[in-house]
Amino acid sequence: MTSAMSRPLFDLPVPLVPIIGADAAFPVRRIYCIGRNYAAHTREMGGDPSRDSPIFFMKPADAVAPRGRLAFPPDTADLHHEVELVAAIGRGGANIPVESALEHVFGYAVGIDLTKRDRQAEAKAAGGPWERSKAFDHSAPISSILPLNPSQAPLRGRISLTVNGATRQNSDLANMIWSTAEIVARLSQIWTLAPGDLVFTGTPDGVGPVAFGDVLDAHVENIGGLRVEIGSGA
Ligand code: MN
Repeated sequence: MTSAMSRPLFDLPVPLVPIIGADAAFPVRRIYCIGRNYAAHTREMGGDPSRDSPIFFMKPADAVAPRGRLAFPPDTADLHHEVELVAAIGRGGANIPVESALEHVFGYAVGIDLTKRDRQAEAKAAGGPWERSKAFDHSAPISSILPLNPSQAPLRGRISLTVNGATRQNSDLANMIWSTAEIVARLSQIWTLAPGDLVFTGTPDGVGPVAFGDVLDAHVENIGGLRVEIGSGA
């Protein structure tokens, strides 16, 4: 009995994200997200970028979606795209100083923070939690991870998203209110970060609805791209 107690009843798969140039994949532990991190997006959501402090929320690890085609999710009539730079944590820590925060980042990817805007608006109005609008199945499609050392960290560069070829989001990483280093440092004051954590760093303005059959192309300069087809099934 004692030996059996250390053995899981069944195998639980660890969500994996491919790493560019590596045979091994990146195992996902937690997904942290920041809201309202670009002034123009904060304004389009009705916020005040000069006053609002960052808000954090999480998605489950298995929200990283399979590549390619995604089923249109249930429980929404207003699914929105949010293109984001994603930092993959390779070294954990608590109370990480801003100055050394990028040393904890293994690499970067392009992600889409899929959001059920109708469910989010209801949660905001009710003062309720955001899980239903943000943490649903396959809500965090992500590209392969590009390993980069701190001196190569993307501090600026175009971040964009097209829907069926038409540009919807087009900004620059330099417009982030809180830098990747500042986000990692602040998160680590609240949660102890660990290898396998992903950090979605917020979306620029231009978020909007996604329809059945749409093709989303997300791109971050020098980091990579991600195509997601919102179709009938993964
Ligand atoms: Mn977002």
